[in-house]
Amino acid sequence: MSEINELYQDLILDHSKKPRNYHVLEGASRKVEGYNPLCGDRYTIYVNLDGNVIKDIGFQGSGCAISKSSASMMTASVKGKTTSEVNELFGHFHVMVTREEAGKYDREKLGKLTVFHGVSEFPVRVKCATLAWHTLKAALEGDGKTVTTE
Ligand code: ZN
Repeated sequence: MSEINELYQDLILDHSKKPRNYHVLEGASRKVEGYNPLCGDRYTIYVNLDGNVIKDIGFQGSGCAISKSSASMMTASVKGKTTSEVNELFGHFHVMVTREEAGKYDREKLGKLTVFHGVSEFPVRVKCATLAWHTLKAALEGDGKTVTTE
């Protein structure tokens, strides 16, 4: 079990040190800033939508390792998905880290994102792990405002 945890930590560290899709997306159709005042995490998420499909996604900003790696892994897993698929994925992710609904979530659908399951033991960190997701959701819903986790 501890080996698995180490593997998870490696993946989180890898994504926080070398975040994927970490760039401004030129000509993005959606751009939203997310802020987590509890920790100081702040990211801007750029999305290019083709109909309701995420054609491309990028992000930039700064924050703790959990928030950055979560944003990085999120961008890698939502590219090419429809907005409803993303909402479903976020639903599973949210249940996993908050332990809502008796912690019933689809491990297969989440895939590598299950590395964040340990976050559920640290309520303060839940906001770090979900910031990028809340921000993406706001971007897809298109109100174009800054979202905070409060
Ligand atoms: Zn944080």
